[in-house]
Amino acid sequence: MMGAMVTCAALDAAVRAAFAARGDTAPCSIPLLVFRLPEFAQRAWREGRPAARRLERCTSQAIEAAAARIMREGDLLAHDAGSEWFAIAMLAPAREGAFAQALDARRMLERITAAVANATGRRMEAGWCPLLSAHDLERNDDVVQRALERGARERERYEFLATLGHELRTPLTSIRGYVETVLDGDVAAPAARRFLEVVRTQALRLERLVDGMLDFSLLDVGYAHETREADLCAVARAAADAIAPIAHEASISVVAPAGRSVRARIDPDACLHALLNLLENAVKYGAPGGRVQLTVRRQDPFAYIDVDDDGPGIPLAERERIFAHRVRGSGTAAVRGAGIGLAIVRSIVERASGTVCAGSSPLGGARFTLRLPSARAESTALSS
Ligand code: ADP
Repeated sequence: MMGAMVTCAALDAAVRAAFAARGDTAPCSIPLLVFRLPEFAQRAWREGRPAARRLERCTSQAIEAAAARIMREGDLLAHDAGSEWFAIAMLAPAREGAFAQALDARRMLERITAAVANATGRRMEAGWCPLLSAHDLERNDDVVQRALERGARERERYEFLATLGHELRTPLTSIRGYVETVLDGDVAAPAARRFLEVVRTQALRLERLVDGMLDFSLLDVGYAHETREADLCAVARAAADAIAPIAHEASISVVAPAGRSVRARIDPDACLHALLNLLENAVKYGAPGGRVQLTVRRQDPFAYIDVDDDGPGIPLAERERIFAHRVRGSGTAAVRGAGIGLAIVRSIVERASGTVCAGSSPLGGARFTLRLPSARAESTALSS
């Protein structure tokens, strides 16, 4: 059966045999994928060897099950009992070209680590490198180190691009939606002007995102929370305007608060950023034809924004872990996403000394609540 586990010595022998069969001069390489369970040694040290062995067994089963689905006939999965390492030699005939081979190796790495993380809740360190000849096996430590370093580099690059793509998509879709509406004609001049103002705001946001991304990672967004205040009602209305074209495509209505000013200590742009991520999710996961509602309230010393939807909601057991970076909820396979939006929301809100949590909404779906330090009452009076 494909995916059955062999020992590392058997994998070594199989790779040598494959090189011998291909001949020394053949310009081919064999991708070697390595996976390490970093918690293994820690667990053994803290809780003893039996606990570490249990962890190893449960990871072995998950990796074996995932590999059986993903590996091709001829590929080999290896592991020695009692060790924190797993390896796969991609011995099945490769597609032509180094690029295709790298793509296949990366895909297999990503799918296996994701499947193991799903099954066990643990992320393994992983990487790959091409074995160019049987001599590479003699410097086994070098090969494994190179594979892990390469894996870490590739993951960093992938995560940066995935985060960037996620953050650019909402403003771009918003801009396209408004521009198309204006181009279609039939829009009265005052409405067209308002639409173009939203386009300008979104374009400025994009510019700031692009400027900012050169200086820091998007998860570490550096807004000036300490010195700035936002009127949460105004920001909620701006967010509802920006998301309108995306909501319109799904026939979802977004209800923004009409109320007077409620001021909080957060950078307005940062607050808009966080709200857009929440609204994008409410529309993405909400039922077509449904409703999304933004509510702002003040209860000193805090100011609150609730984002409610009437979609499927979030299971109790997932309400905390969905805020982790690159974690997606169950049942989301059919919906596009990378598990980044909520991690960014939490990062923004915590930097403003606030909190964000997920719960259930009176509308029947999910409720996300931002709690922020309220700003002084005088500023409320001034701005209302
Ligand atoms: P993504 O949407 O790309 O998966 P996020 O970090 O934005 O990433 O969200 C993480 C998870 O939280 C989603 O995969 C989904 O399971 C859940 N989620 C977020 N918002 C909602 C919502 N409004 N309704 C239901 N589930 C939600």
